[in-house]
Amino acid sequence: MDIVHLLPDSVANQIAAGEVIQRPASCLKELVENSLDAGASHIQIILRDAGRTLLQVIDDGTGMSTTDARMAFERHATSKISNAADLFQLHTMGFRGEALASICAVATVEVQTRREEDELGTLLEISGSDVIRQEPVQCAKGTNMRVKNLFFNVPARRRFLKTDQTEMRNIYTEFARIVLVNPQVRFTLISQDEVVYDLKAGSDKQRIEAYFGHSQRHLYSSQLIDIHIDTELVNIHGFIGKPENASRNPQQFFFVNRRFMKHPYFHKAIMTAYQGLLHNDTTPSYFIYFTLPPESIDVNIHPTKTEVKFADEQLIFPILLSTVREALGKYNIIPSLDFDTTGKIEMPLQGQNKSFSTPAFLQHDKTYNPFHPPQPSVDSHWKSLYDIPQTKNEYNVIHNSDNTPSTALFETESDSVHPYQLNNRYIVLPQANGLLLIDQHRAHALVLYEQCLKRLKDHNGEVQQLLFPEIWDVGVADEYIVDSITDYLHSLGFELNRLTRGSYNISGVPAILGNQSPLSALQQILDSVREIGNIAQDERERRIAWSMADSSAIPYGKSLTQNEMTTILTQLNSQGEYNRTPNGKPVSILFSNEQINSLF
Ligand code: ADP
Ligand code: MG
Repeated sequence: MDIVHLLPDSVANQIAAGEVIQRPASCLKELVENSLDAGASHIQIILRDAGRTLLQVIDDGTGMSTTDARMAFERHATSKISNAADLFQLHTMGFRGEALASICAVATVEVQTRREEDELGTLLEISGSDVIRQEPVQCAKGTNMRVKNLFFNVPARRRFLKTDQTEMRNIYTEFARIVLVNPQVRFTLISQDEVVYDLKAGSDKQRIEAYFGHSQRHLYSSQLIDIHIDTELVNIHGFIGKPENASRNPQQFFFVNRRFMKHPYFHKAIMTAYQGLLHNDTTPSYFIYFTLPPESIDVNIHPTKTEVKFADEQLIFPILLSTVREALGKYNIIPSLDFDTTGKIEMPLQGQNKSFSTPAFLQHDKTYNPFHPPQPSVDSHWKSLYDIPQTKNEYNVIHNSDNTPSTALFETESDSVHPYQLNNRYIVLPQANGLLLIDQHRAHALVLYEQCLKRLKDHNGEVQQLLFPEIWDVGVADEYIVDSITDYLHSLGFELNRLTRGSYNISGVPAILGNQSPLSALQQILDSVREIGNIAQDERERRIAWSMADSSAIPYGKSLTQNEMTTILTQLNSQGEYNRTPNGKPVSILFSNEQINSLF
């Protein structure tokens, strides 16, 4: 007996669905791309339970005839290409004819669709690849797809899904990738009956601002630098973030011919252009749109993959690099820097070039009392938690530089301390045994860190009321992280109330914040906990305390009086830990007399 046979369509479709439709977010992507291909000008997305129970996409595009609607759910049924040559001339998002067949194999789909020229539309209901209902219906022009009970017949896949929060995050990720490159289309996203996004049609830049909202002020159009270049090979336009706005949680997007893509090689071009302009481990945000003839790229790879192959990558790399570099130059940064000393350039921090009209920090440090220097923290185990090289290291950290380990930062009586400031960045302190060089920002941050830790433990942050409350718009995707750290924020001295989804009113800020921006401090705190996910409470507190301290401390570029320097040093001296920041950066370095002598 022969045993080889063809699989029934329903089974073949379910297998295909395993690849194309992995989670609600991938289903959403396919449906919205179909709406875009149908020329929609308004696309509405309605979700229930992160798309598990309902995932609906309504568009005002071309709609389908009854026959087409029926055909569309067959495998390899598409209106977008008809021969292999078309594959190299793609102007649409879809072309494989797989998505609808896959979706209807693993869910119940109800579609209503009508073309402009038809009086009546078509209603079609398909469940697990079986057509259950087909009838004429009165409906609006366009297509209305309701996908219900996704994976109802694939329990393994259903179990594989994560929490609603995680699935929503995935949905927002896909949503961002689509809306940012289709600003000509209005998008509305409704989840659990609440309008989460209503993005009006506009320009690329307006869309970026509308999507990221107030939460990310560095993405306001005024904060973005335009780039543009048109060559025979490629047209590149887009926006790059100012170097001083770079962060550890940047927004980085590449699009090619209106499609989101990842491109590590081009990312490198951008990073190279920024070389020397960024500090620590921050990277800039960017939104770069490539346009080039469809035949010079190959998107015919796996539908869930986002890598795109370019025929002329090697040639585009230097074009991108020089365009970004030129734009940064126009923004007036590069000419003042020397690119030869790659990586060694110390970039002035935000505000250095402004006049130093801001009052000295001490006037704002309401917690400082010269008669009661802060006590060393009870908890000084943080060093080990951050994997800091404890013993020998490349720096002459003062603990290791002397045979007699000192317990204080400096030995001199504090009234005879005469610090100097170097480059508005370092505090220089001559010592009997050498020359002590102290990073002013890190030193101050370390002092504030101890105070913040204490506040988190005692829940008694000193609040400074804001005359004009600020709005902190974190975006719905990060809302749950903020809610999980609200208690900590209150302990530090922030007064915040939820306004609407993803948006908070800030009416009071910690006194130690002084002149620094509350929104960027909050953002840094948020970033620090987002990066690490689930961790022990102790470490969470340390991360939050350090982010708070780091964003409140005096910046580089600020000139300090003798008094201010002495205050920082005295406070630091009274603490047990002063060599390194919790994330392992050196704070003070001693150049011993022997080392100095050996140089001469
Ligand atoms: P593909 O997009 O790769 O062609 P799909 O399975 O996603 O494959 O869709 C099959 C076909 O159904 C499309 O080629 C298109 O003709 C039609 N179609 C799907 N969604 C819509 C829509 N929202 N509006 C109009 N036509 C649609
Ligand atoms: Mg499609």
